Amino acid sequence: MRKIGAHVSAAGGPHKAVERAAAIECNCVQVFSGSPRSWRRKPIEQLDTAKLQEARRKTTIEPVVTHALYLINLASEDPALLENSMQALRYDLQFDAAIGGAGVVVHLGSHQGRGWDSVQEEVLRRVATLVENSPPEATFLIENSAGQKGKLSSDLAEIRWMLDRLASPQVGWCFDTCHAFAAGYALGDPQNGAAPNAGATHAGATHAGGSAVDAAPERRGAGGSARGFAVEEIERLALWDELRCVHVNDSRDPFDSGRDRHANINDGEIPHDDLAYFLNLPEIATLPLILEVPGIENDGPDLENVRRLRALVGEA
Ligand SMILES: [Zn+2]
Ligand SMILES: [Zn+2]
Repeated sequence: MRKIGAHVSAAGGPHKAVERAAAIECNCVQVFSGSPRSWRRKPIEQLDTAKLQEARRKTTIEPVVTHALYLINLASEDPALLENSMQALRYDLQFDAAIGGAGVVVHLGSHQGRGWDSVQEEVLRRVATLVENSPPEATFLIENSAGQKGKLSSDLAEIRWMLDRLASPQVGWCFDTCHAFAAGYALGDPQNGAAPNAGATHAGATHAGGSAVDAAPERRGAGGSARGFAVEEIERLALWDELRCVHVNDSRDPFDSGRDRHANINDGEIPHDDLAYFLNLPEIATLPLILEVPGIENDGPDLENVRRLRALVGEA
């Protein structure tokens, strides 16, 4: 059985999140370490890990992934925001170790127009400091982004660069299907279509698989910034080994849009066959697949999305 989970509320404590995940037929879960709208956290010693372990035993929820705050920006020029970001991540890494979690998924932030080249060294230094000062059981996972507004690591090569420079078993990465699709990585099978950046040479071709690229060449983005097939790029950058988690979200926006708006599974712009192809790759067979979808009733991941995802991996 595949590891299928969801980001659910941890209101009332992380053990509550485990129960909420189990109630929608998940066997793994993702949480925030506290309120997603606040920097404030209760002291790590006050965390009731015994209750959490009991809930996990009862439900067989494994693993528990932590998601860092969206407020974080490790490339900020604002000293207060930077200090808050560092402090929040220090806490989350301690939280991950305390709960026996599978890592902290982090959006590195935005260069806000300065460009990756001008911020990469300082972001690297900050992540290195965090990892060096974290408990040895903690893991820092860099998530790929959709790329809008200067968001870092929409280009998988940036993640490769970070991982190489950090060279630590405590660092890995997380692949988000919506973000990759929005950043111009087609999720489908390269055998079923020309490279997404092949442009005009591709006009008129039709293939049975119907990748995002074939089905709608206009989705490639006016800038021609489409980056290729995700599977080929991950392979080329040798990123499979360090991949620890997959966020499974459909996209409200078209291919290569740069926009980060999640859709319920099968209700967005990602071609069904492409998503199915990616999720069934043997390289990710044992990784947690985590839903961060709006939900049918708009109150977060639900049983219907879990079932749609199970169907995509042939377990319905
Ligand atoms: Zn995500
Ligand atoms: Zn997102």
